[in-house]
Amino acid sequence: MKGKLSVIGFGPGSYEHMTQRARDAIQESDVVIGYNTYVDLVRGLLNGQQVVRTGMTEEVSRAQEAVRQAEAGHRVAVISSGDAGVYGMAGLIYEVLMEKGWRRGQGVDVEVIPGISAINSTASLLGAPIMHDACTISLSDHLTPWELIIKRVEAAAQADFVIALYNPRSGRRTRQIVETQRVLLKYRSPQTPVGIVKSAYREREDIVITTLEEMLEHDIGMLTTVIIGNSTTVVYDGLMVTPRGYQRKYTLGSEVQPLKPHQRLQKEAEPWALGEQTEPDGPAAEYKAEGKSEKPVSAYELALEALQLADAHSSGLARPESGSLDTGLFRQEAILEFAVSPGLAEKRLTAAQLALLAEIVGEDGTMEYTPHHQMLVRLRTSDPDAVTSRLTDAGLLVAPIGDVAQLKACDFCNMDKADSVPYMEELHRRLGGMRVPKELKIGFNGCGMACYGAVKEDIGIVYRREKFDLFLGGKTVGRNARPGQPVAEGIEPERLVETVERIVSRYANEGYPNERFHKFFGRVKELEGYRHQDLPVFQIENAVCGDS
Ligand code: SAH
Repeated sequence: MKGKLSVIGFGPGSYEHMTQRARDAIQESDVVIGYNTYVDLVRGLLNGQQVVRTGMTEEVSRAQEAVRQAEAGHRVAVISSGDAGVYGMAGLIYEVLMEKGWRRGQGVDVEVIPGISAINSTASLLGAPIMHDACTISLSDHLTPWELIIKRVEAAAQADFVIALYNPRSGRRTRQIVETQRVLLKYRSPQTPVGIVKSAYREREDIVITTLEEMLEHDIGMLTTVIIGNSTTVVYDGLMVTPRGYQRKYTLGSEVQPLKPHQRLQKEAEPWALGEQTEPDGPAAEYKAEGKSEKPVSAYELALEALQLADAHSSGLARPESGSLDTGLFRQEAILEFAVSPGLAEKRLTAAQLALLAEIVGEDGTMEYTPHHQMLVRLRTSDPDAVTSRLTDAGLLVAPIGDVAQLKACDFCNMDKADSVPYMEELHRRLGGMRVPKELKIGFNGCGMACYGAVKEDIGIVYRREKFDLFLGGKTVGRNARPGQPVAEGIEPERLVETVERIVSRYANEGYPNERFHKFFGRVKELEGYRHQDLPVFQIENAVCGDS
């Protein structure tokens, strides 16, 4: 009878995570060959097979023994943890066979049975850290020179791959993981999420999520896989998640940030996707059919561009300064979002400003007219500073959006009633764009008519008889919207700015995430000596129809 070799990956170690084919192959065999611990892990599946147990470092003799037994006509199961083709026995078996001049169809039959590798099993326990381009690197220099390993670590770090480190540390090999961390820190932020999983789906399983900076403070050993996130990986509720694309978003005054998961899922987050399709009858074809002159960028063109950048990089032109996190090579276009307006008091746009805005937004970006005296702009760029300085040079006011404080002023009757303008400008200088728990609008109106609705904002300021009236906690949206509570009349001008600044700072420091200002005021009950008053609940009569 012709012998057979089944090279079996049995997955992380639990029966539930083993394939049916792996179970069957073990049970169909006469001989099981494997490292002691692995034989113990599959013991429950054995039904009388001869077991050849070997120690960890006897891989070559194990492979030779397996081939010998198969050639003698036995059905041999060679077992590996994870996948046998990932730092496992499959390659070694083929090497022994090649050495012997084995040919498919002539010698013993060989079947490699796939299993769940540690990169997959540990990732599933951490959340979804792989998701995008990733690689595995074994830090064992038992069979590979260390210079080559660390070169690969460096290349992977630079290329922003998610990296699964196998064999990260053993009793004698302790230096490798330290050196690896040092190289990774040259290219990635110290805050990069790192997952450390020991004995996935086995007894004594242990899962830790930490950062690149602190990873060495945790237990890392022979049974551990370490997953290093890429520049977009986030930690959410104890889970490590890498967004599927490289899309990022930035607004002014904040670092480039990955899109939050819910933002990525919105269609308007990718308004330019149209130009990126290259299928023959995908959207790009429609694009062409519409007679648009500019060609969509093809993957080929992007690849050429990347190659040019890589060439420049390797010839030293774009080499990053040491310690810089921006490798030059991987500078990404990102979504830039901001609000633009003609000014705080200025409500008129010039034709030149509008034309410039139209040019900058172009075909791919979007402009959205909002209820807040602003146009919200979203576009894609790799140079946000160039975009915003062109707009500000044209006299436009560019402001961050999101959970920030914003001044909403009236037009001061075309500057006929401009006495309070310096206070408004000072408030804008101190508070405009300040990060707060939830978007905060500060209405500022230059006379008692308050025709721009200052009293309906989160904070309202009305200039009247050379002094200021203050309104706090307007509920600006919802069916039960209501104006702010009038808390003070006749605030002396020299006290106004400090008072409002202290109120906003308290909100910034003590508000809960996403807590609107009116809720915050109701919760803390008092701000700068102004007490919150609960409104009476309205009685709503049921309207009776047809009653005469
Ligand atoms: N063939 C195996 C890898 C063998 S190399 C596979 O595909 O998974 C041994 C390394 O694999 C260990 O040092 C560890 O980094 C990783 N590993 C294997 N099983 C693991 C498990 N259950 N939990 C965590 N890491 C594991």
